[in-house]
Amino acid sequence: MKVANEFRVPLWVVSRGKNFAYGGAAPVLSGSVVLDLSRMNRILEVNEKFGYALVEPGVSYFDLYRYIEERGLKLWLDVPDPGWGSVVGNALDHGVGYTPYGDHFMMQCGMEVVLPTGEVVRTGMGALPGNNTWQLFKYGFGPYVDGIFSQSNFGIVTKMGIWLMPEPAGYRPYLITFPREEDIEQVVEIARPLRLNNVIQNAATIRSLVLDAAVFAAKSQYYHGDGPIPDSVARRIMEDLEIGMWNFCGALYGPPPIMDALWTAIRDSFSSIPGAKFYFLEDRKRRPDILAHRAETMRGIPKLTEFGFLNWNGGGGHVGFSPVSPTTGEDAIKQYRMVSRRVREYGFDYMGLMAIGFRELHHVTVVVYNQNDPEEHRKIDELFALLVREAAAEGYGEYRTHIHYMDMIARTYSWNDNALMKMHEKIKDALDPNGILSPGKSGIWPKHLRERSDA
Ligand SMILES: Cc1cc2nc3c(=O)[nH]c(=O)nc-3n(C[C@H](O)[C@H](O)[C@H](O)COP(=O)(O)OP(=O)(O)OC[C@H]3O[C@@H](n4cnc5c(N)ncnc54)[C@H](O)[C@@H]3O)c2cc1C
Repeated sequence: MKVANEFRVPLWVVSRGKNFAYGGAAPVLSGSVVLDLSRMNRILEVNEKFGYALVEPGVSYFDLYRYIEERGLKLWLDVPDPGWGSVVGNALDHGVGYTPYGDHFMMQCGMEVVLPTGEVVRTGMGALPGNNTWQLFKYGFGPYVDGIFSQSNFGIVTKMGIWLMPEPAGYRPYLITFPREEDIEQVVEIARPLRLNNVIQNAATIRSLVLDAAVFAAKSQYYHGDGPIPDSVARRIMEDLEIGMWNFCGALYGPPPIMDALWTAIRDSFSSIPGAKFYFLEDRKRRPDILAHRAETMRGIPKLTEFGFLNWNGGGGHVGFSPVSPTTGEDAIKQYRMVSRRVREYGFDYMGLMAIGFRELHHVTVVVYNQNDPEEHRKIDELFALLVREAAAEGYGEYRTHIHYMDMIARTYSWNDNALMKMHEKIKDALDPNGILSPGKSGIWPKHLRERSDA
C-alpha cells in the first residue's frame, strides 16, 4: 500500500478473483495492478461451540469445507454455486447461498481492514483490546462501519468472521415443479408468508426451465434452430427431465417431527397450484438430476456443477443481470415478463432464477452467449443497457453487477440529486486521498478520475 501510494499506482483487490458473471478478477480501470490475496489463505479459527470461522481472504469454500470435514466438526457451510470462490470476497460482494444462512454479508461478524493509506483497523468488538466477542457480536460500540467495506473501494479486508450453521438433526431437500410460465405469480405469493414465518427455512430458489435443463444438457440435444427454444421444445424438455417451467428448490432442516410439520404446511400451500408436483430425493431416479445436485448445495457442499449451464450454447460467455424486487406475485410475473421478453427478442434463451430472501427476490438472469462472436458482444451490451433502464423505470435496481456496468448501475441509484454517490465520494476522498484503491468499483471514482468517468 505504501509503494502504491508513493507511485500513485491504482490497485484492484481480489480475494480469490473468481467473480465470474460479474467480471472475474479483472479491474474496472485498465492499467490497475491486481492485488491478488489468494495466498493469504489461513483459516485462523473454527469455533464449533459458537458456530463461526475467522478466515483470511484467500480461503475458498473448498478449503473451509475440507478443514471442517477433516476434523469432523458438526458445522455446515453456506456456499454459493462456485465452490472455488472465497468466503471473504463473496460476502463482500453481497453474495448468496442456499441454506438458512444464505445472506452471506448478514452472517459476517468482525473484520480486520487495511485502509488505503496503510493503517489497520478492526471493526466491532475487535476494536477492544483483549476482547472475547469479536466473532459473536457484530456491532461493538459506535457507528457500524462493516458495510462500507462491502462492494466498495474503501479498504482491504484481511480477516473476516463468518457464522456457520450447527449441523441440524435432520435434512430433507425437496423440489416442487410448476408447469406454466404464469405460475410464478402464485408461487411467489404463496412463498412470501411461508418465508417470513420461517416455514420455508432456507434461501430457496425458483429456477426456470432452461436454467435447470442447461446444468446437465446442451441445447443441441433438443433444438437446432436459431434463437430461443419454442414452446413445443420446452414441453419436451419438461417431460424428458421431469422438471417444470418453474422449479422450486427448498430444504427442511431440524428434528424429523419439525420437518414433518413444516412440510405439511408447505405442501398444503403449494397444492393449490394446478399441476404442481412434489418430490423428495428418493422420488427422483434419473441421474444427473437437478434435485440431487441442488440437495448438495442446500446442505453447504461446495461444487462447480452449476457451471454446466455455460455449455448450453457452447459459447462460454455469460453475464448476470440481477435486479431486486419485492416478494409479491405481481412483481415476480412483471419482472419475469419484462426480462424474458427482451432476452428472447435478442435471440437468447431465458435462464433465470428467483432467490427468495426474507422480503425480497433476487431475480438473477444469466445470459449465455458466444464470447468469440463480436456481434453477440454488441447485442449483449445493448440488451443489458435496455434491461437496466427498463428495470429502473419500474423501481427495480441491481444488487450487484459486472465491472463493465458499474457506472451504469450506480447512476440508477440517484435519489435526491445523487446524494448517496456524493456521500460515497466524500468517504472515498477522506480514506483514500491518493485514489489508489480499486478505482471505479461500484461506480465510485477517486477525485482525479471523476471527470474521466463522467465523460
Ligand atoms: C455459474 C455461476 C454460478 C454462480 N453462482 C453464484 C451464487 O450462487 N452465489 C453468488 O453469490 N455468486 C454466484 N456467482 C458469482 C460469482 O462467481 C461468485 O460470487 C464468486 O464466489 C465470486 O468470486 P470470489 O469469491 O473469488 O470473489 P472475488 O473475485 O475475490 O471478490 C469479489 C469482489 O469483491 C471485492 N473484494 C474481494 N476481496 C476483497 C477484499 N479482501 N477486500 C475488499 N474488497 C474485496 C472486489 O471488488 C472483488 O472484485 C456465480 C457465477 C457463475 C458463473
